[in-house]
Amino acid sequence: MDCYYCSAKNECSEAVQPGSVVCLINQLHHGGTKANVQPIRQPGEFCQFCGQKLKTIGRQRFCANPCCINRFRDV
Ligand SMILES: [Zn+2]
Repeated sequence: MDCYYCSAKNECSEAVQPGSVVCLINQLHHGGTKANVQPIRQPGEFCQFCGQKLKTIGRQRFCANPCCINRFRDV
């Protein structure tokens, strides 16, 4: 994760750790760098962080658990 290439860098606080949940949320809100990066698919259909079954929306998969740190990521 390199903040130099992140489109949210002007909106993001310097206190935010690169790769943290807040970082990911900021990236999502500001278009982020992910649109240019092929998402990495995790194997299986269960969340690797909490074990919940993944929810598929179109071509993207998200964790259905609202408490999971993985819920905003396309896995
Ligand atoms: Zn999860």
